[in-house]
Amino acid sequence: MTGTRRVAVWDMDEVLANLRDVLCERLSPVFGVEADWRAWTDYSVLYRHFTREPQPFIDAMVSERVIEHCAPEPHAGEALADLAARGYRNVIVTARAWHPAAEAVSWEWLERHGMAASVERLIAVPPFASKTGAIASLGPVDLYVEDSAHHLDAAMGDGLVDRGVIVDRPWNAGWPGRARALRVSSLGTIAAEADARRGA
Ligand SMILES: [Mg+2]
Repeated sequence: MTGTRRVAVWDMDEVLANLRDVLCERLSPVFGVEADWRAWTDYSVLYRHFTREPQPFIDAMVSERVIEHCAPEPHAGEALADLAARGYRNVIVTARAWHPAAEAVSWEWLERHGMAASVERLIAVPPFASKTGAIASLGPVDLYVEDSAHHLDAAMGDGLVDRGVIVDRPWNAGWPGRARALRVSSLGTIAAEADARRGA
């Protein structure tokens, strides 16, 4: 493969990694709430499901080691491997830079779950920040897989991404969608959809 390889950008949390379950389990007792992600209609200000200010929430995410303990989403490893086998460069763009060792911890997690060999790069941007600068730095992106509609809208609106994939979550259920964006309930269908929709 040469420089013509296509780029696939992946979000990490709630796309490749199930953070929501571990957040609810580990942070509910810290803040004295009974958080249930099934009721979340907003993920962009996640801390508000637990507490009023972002910093105590971030401190608790670090001390409770939530990104170390989260489980992979079903089919995450095979979806990455399938796209790599189809000649895609998989790049993770995550808003995990709230963690002081975001990249090292994330790579260790990818290794532990057998995904690291399918991922070429991982870029961590600050929480609440735009991902468009990081995505633009990759050149033309063929496919962008996200659960946060505002990130997908920003990248597609700026013309940085040819095709988008939104992974079904309660907080994006009200998103109206957009041209060249596909909604999936399972990562297991992404590689086939990528093939089927090429040039569509
Ligand atoms: Mg996400």
